[in-house]
Amino acid sequence: MAMINLTIDGVKVSVPAGTTVLEAARQANIHIPTLCFLKDINEIGACRMCVVDCGGRSLAAACVMPASEGMVVKTNTPAVRAARKAVLELILSNHERKCLSCVRSQNCELQALAKELGADETKFDGANIEYPLDTFSPSIVRDPNKCILCRRCVSACRNVQKIGAIGAVNRGFKTIIAPAFEKNILETNCIFCGQCINACPVGALREKDDTDKVWAAIADPDKFVVVQPAPAVRVALGEEFGMEIGTRVTGKMTQALKRLGFDKVFDTDFGADLTIMEEATELLSRIKNGGALPMFTSCSPGWIKYVEHNFPEMIPNLSTCKSPMEMEGAIIKSYYAEKAGIDPKKIFVVAVMPCTSKKFEAQRPEMEVGGLRSVDVSITTRELARMIKEARIDFVKLPDEEVFDELVAESTGAAPIFGATGGVMEAALRTAADVLEGKSIEEVKYEAVRGLEGIKEATVVLGGVELKAAVAHSTGAAKELIKRIKSGEATYHFVEVMACPGGCVNGGGQPIVSAFKRMEVDQRAARAAGLYAEDEAKVLRKSHENPDVKKLYDEFLGEPNGHKSHELLHTHYTDRSK
Ligand code: SF4
Ligand code: SF4
Ligand code: SF4
Repeated sequence: MAMINLTIDGVKVSVPAGTTVLEAARQANIHIPTLCFLKDINEIGACRMCVVDCGGRSLAAACVMPASEGMVVKTNTPAVRAARKAVLELILSNHERKCLSCVRSQNCELQALAKELGADETKFDGANIEYPLDTFSPSIVRDPNKCILCRRCVSACRNVQKIGAIGAVNRGFKTIIAPAFEKNILETNCIFCGQCINACPVGALREKDDTDKVWAAIADPDKFVVVQPAPAVRVALGEEFGMEIGTRVTGKMTQALKRLGFDKVFDTDFGADLTIMEEATELLSRIKNGGALPMFTSCSPGWIKYVEHNFPEMIPNLSTCKSPMEMEGAIIKSYYAEKAGIDPKKIFVVAVMPCTSKKFEAQRPEMEVGGLRSVDVSITTRELARMIKEARIDFVKLPDEEVFDELVAESTGAAPIFGATGGVMEAALRTAADVLEGKSIEEVKYEAVRGLEGIKEATVVLGGVELKAAVAHSTGAAKELIKRIKSGEATYHFVEVMACPGGCVNGGGQPIVSAFKRMEVDQRAARAAGLYAEDEAKVLRKSHENPDVKKLYDEFLGEPNGHKSHELLHTHYTDRSK
């Protein structure tokens, strides 16, 4: 590869051709400030925060300026500093500055830059138009008063997710980022994936905060409050307390949940193992009986909503299995309630999810069993961190020892990997292999479905049956895969789709990683590595070997896909295209 040699602030740097000045500076450990830039998502050079002196007549935006041979770049001249400060002061003049109570305080790129660059927040008088908040959806809150028009959310939604639920509307001072035709977000085709929240540098997009509902339930003596954390939460929660990205904090997380006052701490990982029992059985039955193929996974509520809006004709291809969160909730309010002698109406199930779309899923009428919601409230990893902070629990110093409660919390290594793209597929293949081969297969790793390639494919022959599988993460990649399937270019038996890029580890409810940090670490890979380590640490690594899942079938459900399973663990979907 051709290399380019340049000098940045007197440091000689050699980078591959095509590298931007911003990336070259990072390589030389020189930090150029950015606001609208977000690696691989938004590289539009619009905000002018990253201006540098490249020797030309005007300053250049480093995020879009390609490095060239012999270039001499200065990132810290008086003119550069003055230009950046002016940009920042103009943004602040029009910004609702409520840092004390803002959900992003101390994790806000604007706040951090204002402090770093010594900006005067009152230097200019802005238009300061007051906009109403969009609080209509169960998942996302839009606050245009805090928006700095960087368009990172627009790129995430339009270019990565290929949805385009939000964009710039109006002109000049009246420009805001919003759905078209003055709709609120609930009235659009938004799938509530929250990728826009994760992209936002400030507090203009956030999840609907449900922590008050959880506190109220815990304080209610008539409620038996149980909690179930999802696989991906345990490799991200620590980041909210200053730990490295991807650190496994399963033990500390369970300790914190106990201290918050939950009556029982169960685990969505149990629901994940149960999902595999149901989903693998459904797949094999569809193959045997000529059901709709390929069968798509149905764990990701953003993906489900995407199909319902855009490809309703493919609804029969969606597995009828509920997600692990919903399965866990349904089993808690039936099997566990019966065993513990508790009225299911008194049980309040809180799910802790890496996902904002789960809030929407929890309140779908299609998920109810006998008129009762299986999950009462779904909070994000970020909300759980807020509760831990509010309770003044010293998370980092908590013991690392897991304190899950018995009956519906045991899990195998197949469960944690649900949080990474390809994980559900791998877990299903582990079980399908044993069923089709009629014996226990020692090899449990399916490398072909691991990793961050947008679309992954694998063909495995199990018990003489050839199984063709594909994995897509992000709805943008799923759209491409559907195109290939519909055109006949590709045929599969089983397809895993996760709405978020990288899978749940990078869900819209996970700790927000700044643009600066994203240039150093890929949070998707770092968190996934934590989940694969959790898998390897387990003695049992196949869902059908989970002793408590076996007991559940023996004592309560009967067989996978049986009558009781259908009543509790399967669902149907809704055409939302009209
Ligand atoms: S978005 Fe940032 S700068 Fe604005 S109020 Fe919130 S923390 Fe402060
Ligand atoms: S939640 Fe997802 S679909 Fe909705 S606006 Fe944000 S990125 Fe787009
Ligand atoms: S909502 Fe956030 S990400 Fe979107 S344009 Fe405004 S500040 Fe940028």
